[in-house]
This record gives sequence, structure tokens and C-alpha cells, in this order.
Amino acid sequence: MNNKFVYAPGPTNVRENVRLERAKATTNPDVDEEFIEFYKNTCDKIGKIIKTENPTYILSGEGILGLEAACASLTEPGDRVLVLDNGIYGRGFKGFVEMYGGEGIYFSDDYNKAIDEKKLSEFLENDHNFKYATVVHCDTPTGVLNDLSKICPILNKYGILTVVDSVSAMAGEEIKVDEWKIDIALGGSQKAFSAPTGLTMVSISEKAKAAMKNRKTPIVGFYCNLTIWENYYKDKWFPYTMPISDIMGLSKAADNILDEGVQNVLNRHEKIASATRKAIKEYGLELFLTNGYSNTVTAVKIPQNIGALKLKEHMLKKYNTLIITSLKPYDNEILRIGHMGENAREDKIVYALNAIDNGLKDLGFNSDKELVGLFNKYLDK
Ligand SMILES: *Cc1c(COP(=O)(O)O)cnc(C)c1O
Repeated sequence: MNNKFVYAPGPTNVRENVRLERAKATTNPDVDEEFIEFYKNTCDKIGKIIKTENPTYILSGEGILGLEAACASLTEPGDRVLVLDNGIYGRGFKGFVEMYGGEGIYFSDDYNKAIDEKKLSEFLENDHNFKYATVVHCDTPTGVLNDLSKICPILNKYGILTVVDSVSAMAGEEIKVDEWKIDIALGGSQKAFSAPTGLTMVSISEKAKAAMKNRKTPIVGFYCNLTIWENYYKDKWFPYTMPISDIMGLSKAADNILDEGVQNVLNRHEKIASATRKAIKEYGLELFLTNGYSNTVTAVKIPQNIGALKLKEHMLKKYNTLIITSLKPYDNEILRIGHMGENAREDKIVYALNAIDNGLKDLGFNSDKELVGLFNKYLDK
């Protein structure tokens, strides 16, 4: 199970120092105040990476927990919520909104490009009575990157709170939570942070906190209630036992990012992603998107006569290499190269491209070019 070469857009490879950190002996996280300091310190590192002064928390549960918790904490029955939909995760937010009694209203745009801010502005001119909006930063199944620096300030102007799913972008794509007016920013440990799966990171603005406090009806549930974290530091109390080993791993992963330098990490992603996209095109394949390419994942169209599912199976069987396809309805159309976090490195991506090149040619794809050679050519530029 653990000897495969994995290039999925999350979970990503975990650096050895992070794995070793999780193996260390631990204290009792419920009662040892040293852990409370450690937890706060780790949250502060996350805040630094995503550029916010807002309180930031680490919750025990995969990224999906954050998406649900934001909706659970903000939504009251009958609330109108704007759901920005230009991808599968974007569309999916409506389910969480409605689970908690809200009315989800789509602003839909094409799935093969970033949200058009002009269209969004026009939509909002006619209808802007929303408590909050959900926005996906990188919609991973297609790899589309939405421009939060434009979208969130527009929503903010209308007094609409912004809930941003940046699970597959944070730490691989720039995010400036405060400057871009993001009220709730959500991340996950297992994508560009390259820590093991299991943790959600969330930052909450004063306005979002006030919206949770001023509800007429109580928040349903406990685990998804974001207000229970507010006084943890003052009261030296956590709502539930913290997964200390996971948090030690995440703290080390955050150190890795801060030691390399946040901007250097972003530049590394950009360099790898840009060379990958250029190589894919010159090789004779098409990208799924026409604009809005995320530097964390590249969605590649696989010719119909081969099919992405067959290619994936073949690469796994013959090359022991796991590169996954997309979600339905794109599962047989798109292959996704994950180049985020520790996967955004030359040696990793060269290996993946070689497997794709050989796999495609094994299955009858005609090209007199080599993906790795093209990648190297563009990397040097
Ligand atoms: C991975 C991911 C999540 C979290 O999903 P998990 O199943 O918890 O890993 C949420 N949003 C996006 C856009 C993601 O890529």
C-alpha cells in the first residue's frame, strides 16, 4: 500500500521530517498548558502563511469538516446564500447550505475557466441580498483557480460574508486573507501543506464571528460549531481532545514552508506548473481549461480512444504510479497531475511525466516528443 509513487492533487507526499515529528512521544493535550501554547503557536504560523491577523484554528477532521462547519455556523433557516459555481466543489457547497436550512442560490459560470468578475458584478447588481457567499479558490477536479483578490472584495462591498474553500490552493497559491476580505478561509493539512490527512485549518473574521453570535436560532451541533473555539486560549480549554501528533506534524510542515519562505514556495509551484502546462501542450495533449490555471494541479484531456480511466489503471499496474483522473462527469476525460506541496519538485514531476508519456505510448498515443524533455526545456526558461 505504501510503496507507490503518488502524484494526486492531495493527499500529497509528506516530507520525512514531518513524518518523524508525528512519531514523537507526546504529552496530554487536554491538561498540559505547554500544548496549548504549542497549538496557538501552530495556528499563528498558519495565519502567517495565509496572511491574516484573524484568529485561526486547527480542527480535528479532514477539509470537508471546515466546509460543513462554516455553513453550519453561519446558516439559519431561510437565509439566502450565494453559491459560486464553476466547478464540482463549488456546486457542492449548496448541499451544506441546505442541510442547515439555508436557501442556496447559484451564480454559475463556465467550468473550463475562472469566474468572470464582470458577470458576477452584473448578477449582484440585480440581486445581492445574501448573508454569505461560498467561493472555491482552486476547484480541484478541474484545477480552476478563481481570483479571490477580485471576487471577495466585490462581495464584501455588498456586505456579503465570504466563505472560501482554499483547501487545495493554500500554501501553493497566494492567499491574502485580510487584504482580500475573506471572512472564513478554509484549508486542509493534506494538500499543499503536505502534512498527513486529518486536519482542517480555519480563520474567522470579526464580522463572521458577529454573524454567528447574532443568530436568532442556536447553531445545530457541536463539532461543526465554530464559536466553541473562541476562548480556548483564555480558558485553557479545548472542546475535544486535540490530535496532538497530527498537529505536531502540521507544525513541522508549516515550518518547512516558512523556512523556505512563503514566496519561494509559491514561486516553486509556479515554475513547476508553468513548465508542466507548456510541456503537455507541445507534446500534443490539450489542457481542460482555457484560463485560470491553478499552480497546484493540472487537468489534462486524454484522447477518447485511450480514456483517462484506462491510462490511470495502466500506469498503476505497469509503473506502480498513481496519477488520478477527475470526478464524474470528467472521470474518463481528465487526468490530473498533482504538483502541490512536496509534489511541486522537479524530481517528483519528472517521474510523473515519464509515467504519463510511457503509459500513453503503450496505449497507442502517437507523439515523437518526450514529455520530460519538453518539461526540462521549459523549466530552464
Ligand atoms: C480536498 C478538498 C477538500 C477536502 O476534501 P477531503 O475529502 O476532506 O480531503 C475540499 N475542497 C477542495 C476544493 C478540495 O480539493
